[in-house]
Amino acid sequence: MLVSATDMLRKAKAGHYAVGQFNINNLEWTKTILSTAKELRSPVILGVSEGAGKYMGGYDVVVGMVNGLLKDQNIDVPVSLHLDHGTYDHCYKCIDAGFSSIMFDGSHYSIEENVQKTTELVKVAHGKGLSIEAEVGSIGGEEDGVIGMGEVADPDECKQIADLGVDFLAAGIGNIHGKYPANWQGLSFETLDAIQKLTGDLPLVLHGGTGIPADMIKKAIDLGVSKINVNTECQLSFAAATRKYIEEGKDLEGKGFDPRKLLAPGAQAIHDTVKEKMELFGSVGKAD
Ligand SMILES: [Zn+2]
Repeated sequence: MLVSATDMLRKAKAGHYAVGQFNINNLEWTKTILSTAKELRSPVILGVSEGAGKYMGGYDVVVGMVNGLLKDQNIDVPVSLHLDHGTYDHCYKCIDAGFSSIMFDGSHYSIEENVQKTTELVKVAHGKGLSIEAEVGSIGGEEDGVIGMGEVADPDECKQIADLGVDFLAAGIGNIHGKYPANWQGLSFETLDAIQKLTGDLPLVLHGGTGIPADMIKKAIDLGVSKINVNTECQLSFAAATRKYIEEGKDLEGKGFDPRKLLAPGAQAIHDTVKEKMELFGSVGKAD
């Protein structure tokens, strides 16, 4: 059964580790991430962007697929199904469809409007047992056509949004979505530290986990980050493994064209990426 992400992230914050949010795109992604979490006894958050939800056929399809896998594959670790960067309308759609967690990304609104909409959604989400993430300070890079400038969040605004009762908070600290450019300045640990001092026990979220060096990840966890979002890295490893299979001509050998064979190296690559991240984040063995 799907659970909200609140308990798993509070435990993570108290235990000084982070839970990975791995974004899903299809059955292979979802099945692989869930089986890896089970194998490593790790809690896990499945992230669904609005674009990926549409790609998979809609939120009901996503909920049906995930719940089916939990049952048929006997997934007995805590799993949360979370809307990633939700707009106001899509938060309601996912609540109705049976997600167990939502992110309301009101970072492009004025702080007043972000506060007003977040307040309302906190009430609705909590009324139905879901957890809710909010964002302050837009996160750089591009996600589903939304381009953020990678600004650094104002700690006082973070405190203001935290006080609305959100369960975890994403704050821009120089992190960006997608691949990091060569001239990237690194994470602002000064900002992260200031935010954590003001928000106390509230779990903090690091978006754009692809390509942040391991030592920076560990330092961020030390400073209160309890959820780290990984999306691009699984896409890159899936693509590389699939490219290798085809370039070696394996799809032309025997029944190598069968999608169950053609997509297997990519699924294995996602498994390896997820395993590496769970080990880095320290969530291995924390499911029980
Ligand atoms: Zn994000």
